[in-house]
Amino acid sequence: MTVVHRRSFLKAAAGSLGAAVLSSDPMFAEQAPSAGSSSDIVVVGAGAFGGWTALYLREMGMRVTLVDQYGPGNSRASSGGESRQIRAVYGDRELYTRWVLQAFERWQAREAEWGKKLFFRTGQLSLAREWTKELRDTETTFDHLGVKYEVIKRDDLVRRYPQMNMEGVEFALYTPSTGVLKAREGCVAVAQAFEKKGGVIVIAKAELGRRSGDSLQDVALSTGQRAAAHTFVFACGPWLPKVFPSVMGNKLATPRRVVFFYGTPPGDERFTYPNFPTWSIDDAYGFPSIEGKGFKVAPTFARVIVDPDTQEHTLTGEEVEKGREFVAKWFPALAHQPLVDSKVCQREDSVDEHFIVCRHPELSNVWLVGGGSGHGYKHGIMLGEYVANRVAGRDKNPELAATFRLKDGAF
Ligand SMILES: Cc1cc2nc3c(=O)[nH]c(=O)nc-3n(C[C@H](O)[C@H](O)[C@H](O)COP(=O)(O)OP(=O)(O)OC[C@H]3O[C@@H](n4cnc5c(N)ncnc54)[C@H](O)[C@@H]3O)c2cc1C
Repeated sequence: MTVVHRRSFLKAAAGSLGAAVLSSDPMFAEQAPSAGSSSDIVVVGAGAFGGWTALYLREMGMRVTLVDQYGPGNSRASSGGESRQIRAVYGDRELYTRWVLQAFERWQAREAEWGKKLFFRTGQLSLAREWTKELRDTETTFDHLGVKYEVIKRDDLVRRYPQMNMEGVEFALYTPSTGVLKAREGCVAVAQAFEKKGGVIVIAKAELGRRSGDSLQDVALSTGQRAAAHTFVFACGPWLPKVFPSVMGNKLATPRRVVFFYGTPPGDERFTYPNFPTWSIDDAYGFPSIEGKGFKVAPTFARVIVDPDTQEHTLTGEEVEKGREFVAKWFPALAHQPLVDSKVCQREDSVDEHFIVCRHPELSNVWLVGGGSGHGYKHGIMLGEYVANRVAGRDKNPELAATFRLKDGAF
């Protein structure tokens, strides 16, 4: 992937931005730029949300500049790291299950287009001590949408998955179609496709620039340049409160999350894809070892709010100890296996765990996109298209707009 340097960026982003790319397109008729404004789109943030948004906008024929301060899928971003789950269990939030079903086909189509393996169909086990409302609602949703699933009772769980301690577990909802996505690699692949199709990537920190009335004219880049555009999409993940302190300050929480990868015993494939599914129990989840990475375990610890720029990505002694206790309890054969890798990150939780896609309350050509809330990665491939259509004035679905509006609640 090429990092765009001063000259090529200026050529691509500054000189040509005044051309009436958007205003000449009928789909932008309702949002025609006011006189003197430029007519390209700048997307700030090349994580799962911004990367896909930029790619879809580019595929719609827009001239798009994608700006990221650390690069697509970087280690500080919420979309960084090795892998993310693509699960369909969403209780009564049917929208997200529907999107997941469509996402499978899209991921497979992109894998074929790019010649890259990014999706591993592991199947997913939602383990439970009792049949909760969330699981009952999910069953209803699955029946409605025709999702294949199986309810497995305790005795069968013990027989089918002897590598896991099923103490206290009574049921599981098994969804065979779901699995794991490569995370950082996925972001890089999206960015490469965007660039190959003529999009421009700039590595720089962006700040709000000059305004004219209720319009933003440009963003100021840490390179000293400015990127002018007709429309701006800020898909800044956990940085949204830093970029928009007054609007997003109490609307997004950024708790630290840690993920452990334990080595599997030599020659033992019981914990390896495709021999074990992704799983969840209480507020923890994990994945089988894929491509020798190690068996992934992600328990939830006490909520500590962190700064995505400055938090340390090493584990504390207490975290190492708690991770070990967790794996020893649920997967006894891994109790003495080494921790072969770990990842530290942060979530970007909205007040109701719905995504946020809305206009800035004071800047009419600025869109705020984020609030992945621990489940956003898998949806980037759907949300990106939604945002692109929304920004282009093509999507006018009031229910979706209401679901993704910035809510009144606060942290
Ligand atoms: C540990 C963990 C596990 C998770 N597990 C899952 C899972 O299993 N399944 C799932 O679907 N989701 C999961 N999620 C959630 C999912 O990963 C996130 O919701 C999603 O990746 C968020 O993407 P994003 O594009 O909004 O944010 P990010 O990926 O953080 O991207 C934002 C980007 O904006 C850039 N940026 C910010 N400010 C600026 C600026 N001023 N100028 C330039 N660039 C800027 C950053 O550098 C960054 O690259 C998990 C999250 C975590 C942390």
